[in-house]
Amino acid sequence: MTNELWGEVREMLRGSVGTGNYSNWIEPLEFSAIDNGVATFFVPTNFIGKYVQQNFGDQILYQLNRNGSEVQRLKFAVPPRVKTQRRVQSQTAPVDPVETVDEVPGAPLDARFTFENFVVGKPNELAHAAARRVAEGAAVTFNPLFLYGGVGLGKTHLMHAIAHELRRRQPETNVLYLSAEQFMYRFITALRERKMMDFKQLFRSVDILMVDDVQFIAGKDSTQEEFFHTFNALVDGQKQIIISADRAPGEIKDLEDRIKSRLQCGLVVDLHPTDYELRLGILQTKAELYKAQYPGLQISDGVLEFLAHRISTNVRVLEGALTRLFAFASLVGREISLELTQDCLADVLKASDRKVTVEEIQRKVSEHYNIRLSDMIGPKRLRTYARPRQIAMYLAKQLTSRSLPEIGRRFGGRDHTTVMHGVKRIEELAHKDSQIADDLELLRRALEA
Ligand code: ADP
Ligand code: MG
Repeated sequence: MTNELWGEVREMLRGSVGTGNYSNWIEPLEFSAIDNGVATFFVPTNFIGKYVQQNFGDQILYQLNRNGSEVQRLKFAVPPRVKTQRRVQSQTAPVDPVETVDEVPGAPLDARFTFENFVVGKPNELAHAAARRVAEGAAVTFNPLFLYGGVGLGKTHLMHAIAHELRRRQPETNVLYLSAEQFMYRFITALRERKMMDFKQLFRSVDILMVDDVQFIAGKDSTQEEFFHTFNALVDGQKQIIISADRAPGEIKDLEDRIKSRLQCGLVVDLHPTDYELRLGILQTKAELYKAQYPGLQISDGVLEFLAHRISTNVRVLEGALTRLFAFASLVGREISLELTQDCLADVLKASDRKVTVEEIQRKVSEHYNIRLSDMIGPKRLRTYARPRQIAMYLAKQLTSRSLPEIGRRFGGRDHTTVMHGVKRIEELAHKDSQIADDLELLRRALEA
């Protein structure tokens, strides 16, 4: 390939990656040579090389091949610090790059998503413990590990944490992390370019495979098929697989039954919606980091507690709120008081204001099961009343920030242990009984609408 051809390829990339990405990442690349199917580019820094490899590598490969170059791999190198004259001379003798960034076939790992930065609480302790176990890299005990839960609850964070930990402990272990979307993209590219052998080889040569957001491949038949084969080959070879999804395996629509049942073979753990304590813990941890970043910035007592109470959606929203708060406060040079918080985050607070009350939950649930509200709250122990009551308790725990004793009081003055028992019971049933799982989903939607 000539520089001219690279010019054309670059133009194609401009269209596919967008102007912003183009000028930040593609433009700085300096084409060097193609040798034995490896295209080498010079990059100003190692970081840029790594980033481009991970984020645009597939697209660059694709465009190069479309334009007639036979390239299987990309290599990014920081050029040796030589004077311009030497550089000209070195055109005959190949330049030995000082530092090369090896091809990493997976998706980029977020450096902040470590176990150290993961705050553990009741809602995520099981998922955390399972992730830790896998990260020890001992013999495979459960395969796959299937993590599921709503958005922003830490699935991706935990997967990256496993990858970081394994790379640190056992650098020789081949860990591959990617999203189900990327899996599909690679698969389709391999099909189109008749490189299925390479594709299979790559995926069967990893020691630990992590596929994030696997619900994405539901309904995509040939991708599912290939995923199934990859999965089986790795399990047969005693390789660890870690999967995440936004719901339990059995609840993913348009996923083949044989895949569902395969996914259920290992350990299935869910990340529950955050509770007040966990949210506060996360806020405290992040606030410490920010305090280091913005020295001198004061934060009043009660602000974090206020946020933990008022923002009960996912952790991402919580983090975003805190980031904005610190940035704003440092800009105006004021202490982070409750008042400043309310001003700065008015929109976020308003959005999460539509809070569900325990009373609403009781009403909806009794309507749904066709029982009287008084029977739900009253002392009757018959299953017809007890089950809806437990469901309402469970939803109250999940959807409100009320504590167990507070919930108990609203259910005719029941003890907090009764509430806890009810919540546990429904959690168990939600796994086993799809009718209950469906009811819960329906009720949750109706209440949050
Ligand atoms: P998911 O993949 O489940 O949608 P992520 O893993 O992307 O969610 O998490 C969303 C954000 O919230 C990330 O920035 C992550 O670091 C943060 N986060 C989630 N759970 C925790 C936790 N327990 N401790 C610290 N940060 C968390
Ligand atoms: Mg995620």
